[in-house]
Amino acid sequence: MKWRWDQGRLDYLRFENIRSIARCCYDLNGVNLKQTDDILRPALERATTLPFAPKHYKVWRNYGRVFECAMVATDLGGRLTITDIGKRLAEDAEWTVDEYIAVIITRFAYPYPAFQDYAVSLTPVFPFCAIIRYLLASLMTGKSAKITVEEVFSILIGNNAQGTESLDFFAQLRPTDVKPQGDEERQVREMLIFLSQTNFLKWSAGSLFLDIEANDTESIAQIEALASPMLRTREPITQAEILSCASLQSDTILIMPTLTTRETTLDAVFTEGKRIRTEHLRLERSPRLRKLYFAQAPKPHKCDMCTGNMQTRYPWTDNILELHHLLPLSSSLTITTKGTSLADVVPLCPNCHRSIHVFYKNWLNSENLNDFRTPSEAFNIYNTAKQQVQI
Ligand SMILES: [Zn+2]
Ligand SMILES: [Zn+2]
Repeated sequence: MKWRWDQGRLDYLRFENIRSIARCCYDLNGVNLKQTDDILRPALERATTLPFAPKHYKVWRNYGRVFECAMVATDLGGRLTITDIGKRLAEDAEWTVDEYIAVIITRFAYPYPAFQDYAVSLTPVFPFCAIIRYLLASLMTGKSAKITVEEVFSILIGNNAQGTESLDFFAQLRPTDVKPQGDEERQVREMLIFLSQTNFLKWSAGSLFLDIEANDTESIAQIEALASPMLRTREPITQAEILSCASLQSDTILIMPTLTTRETTLDAVFTEGKRIRTEHLRLERSPRLRKLYFAQAPKPHKCDMCTGNMQTRYPWTDNILELHHLLPLSSSLTITTKGTSLADVVPLCPNCHRSIHVFYKNWLNSENLNDFRTPSEAFNIYNTAKQQVQI
């Protein structure tokens, strides 16, 4: 079974942009995609600030596959048709990147109807479930929980993994001589980077890492449950299949890893009843992000707000600085082909970190918002608070 993805579209597949695309498709649901005017282009370019080049082709012709891989919309009888997932992204501003990716993981299967080789006769292969199950099996057998693009081909595709098998199956897989052909390598790499937007995975130095500790049994159990294929009868018509596999029944239960292992005083002031704020903290607690950040940050490490050097102030401590994510609370880390982006992260001492979230909470409450509307709004509010710190 060929594993494929829409290559060259990483910017469009950033969660924030998927949400903006979903909002446009929601507003334009039902428009005729065959009419001469490209009604999608101005709305999409405004909402995402991305170019939908080339200008002389209709957006749907070159980008329709992005919308379908992201399970946001399809072309039903020449009309733009939003999926349930697209609707949810557009209507529910609190639907998080983790909840979205969790839904994609259980549903995305080959052959996928956005590609030409779609056929209902073949047994479906769930690539995201296979990748995550392999990572879990590696973690539990004491190996490093990471996978490269080459290993996806040699270990998962080479052994015909379907994503439905037990962790024991994945623990016993041995490399084969299956290698990517042509642009398959790039497609699978970008697919892994798309997946790395969920908090428990990170893309770094050419590998996808499972970002949890081996002793975190609760998260392991939750992630295993989350990486369980949704088995259903597939529709023979491709557009119908996209709508069907993106359908969200009201009883869809999402099992998300909790924050039980790394709770701090911040949780009490910040997470109460707010999904997006919990997600923000989960991202900031990532052990892998912390390791990556402090390995490249200039020394000595200082708090970005009060400029305090915690190692001078508390000489008996190692590194008590915490990471704070500067994008809107519901944002994922920016994805790049190189690795997890560290540009949107600053180190803060525990006091300043707590204080900035209090500042956020007060400001968002005064504006009657749940989250910042844009990255620049989030940056501005952070800087406003930073300027008011009395040292
Ligand atoms: Zn500080
Ligand atoms: Zn924070």
